[in-house]
Amino acid sequence: MMKDYKKFSYIEYLECYDCRKKFSPDEINTFCPDCQSPLLSRYDLEAVKQDLDRELAASRRRGMWRWHEVLPVKDPANCVTLGEGDTAMLRLFRLEEKLGLTDLYVKDESTNPTGSFKARGLSAAVSKAKELGIEKVIIPTAGNAGGAMAAYAARSGLKAHIFMPKDTPVANIEESRIVGAGVSLVDGLISEAAGMAGEKARDEGWFDVSTFKEPYRVEGKKIMGYELAQAFSWELPDVVIYPTGGGTGLVGMWKAFQELRQLGWLESENMPRLVVVQADGCAPVVKAFEEGAPFCDFWLGAQTIASGLRVPKSFADALMLDNLRESHGTAVAVSDKDILDAQIEFGYMEGIFPAPEGAATLAALHKLIETEWVQPDERIILFNTGSGLKYLKHLIERNQEK
Ligand SMILES: *Cc1c(COP(=O)(O)O)cnc(C)c1O
Ligand SMILES: [Zn+2]
Repeated sequence: MMKDYKKFSYIEYLECYDCRKKFSPDEINTFCPDCQSPLLSRYDLEAVKQDLDRELAASRRRGMWRWHEVLPVKDPANCVTLGEGDTAMLRLFRLEEKLGLTDLYVKDESTNPTGSFKARGLSAAVSKAKELGIEKVIIPTAGNAGGAMAAYAARSGLKAHIFMPKDTPVANIEESRIVGAGVSLVDGLISEAAGMAGEKARDEGWFDVSTFKEPYRVEGKKIMGYELAQAFSWELPDVVIYPTGGGTGLVGMWKAFQELRQLGWLESENMPRLVVVQADGCAPVVKAFEEGAPFCDFWLGAQTIASGLRVPKSFADALMLDNLRESHGTAVAVSDKDILDAQIEFGYMEGIFPAPEGAATLAALHKLIETEWVQPDERIILFNTGSGLKYLKHLIERNQEK
């Protein structure tokens, strides 16, 4: 293909979210050792603005990597892709009519490789790991991140090891094994899995790609924000409703919106209000938001069918809460029963079989309409972050109960 860029990536440095100390993107970095805070990638956006026309980027071959100037990989030969990104933005006409809304959409991330939007983050992280000469990657996961990491690792010839709770959906376990990853099933939650993965990483020199303990997964997920802007002719929607676990999608999109503004690519200064959706069996962000707290307390006894939301405390809790408040957003908890009902409603109203996490956004929307936090004429985006096909167990059980 003809080269249509001046420089592949405009990444300049990594910055600690807390103390703003700078780190090099050409060396292996994890998080800030002084503050235990995430590192965020900073780009020379002035140069991007000069060198790249938004319409050019939008006209490139489909996929996440069309936005490579604002992604961290410097040499295109290191990009590991399975076709992630550029998922459908679907107008929900029948739900609009039922709910009394006029401008409702779903961003359907279920068509990503490995059936969830985790593909975006792991494509970015594994590519950068390859660029930095890393050979072995390890991850603790509530489910989909493991499958995605395993797939991208296989694709690039890296070794992969995954720690997941033993009651993780069986699809996540088998999709990891089939692409050759080592899988350790843990008697506990993602927090226990994280402890064990961290230990193995230290003892045996594996690189840990846990949420926000490496800088680049959030960069892949950020591209959802670029796609949102492009889908609506560079005007951002009013409300984005997002099922939140570790918070990479939320933080990534908010970062994208700020970058888009600095690039001068937006038609208006209006920023979306973000909505964090969690399950009421594990809602640390909702609790902290309601209490006005700057951090989350560790959520004890976390339990929900939406396994991607079963994260008792995120490493980026402060960052997430800051972004949520900056956006004038809110946080909503929904029950597993609401999630199941919403899964069925998504199905029969729109022909979409969402992951429980994706269904949770529709359950939350019902609540936000009831409290009039959203207005009927607002442009509202739900995020279906994964495919319902990966979570059949609770549906089978539900049918057996009948
Ligand atoms: C991981 C996951 C989430 C939560 O994503 P974060 O961006 O880490 O908050 C939501 N839905 C699904 C399907 C997931 O796999
Ligand atoms: Zn720091």
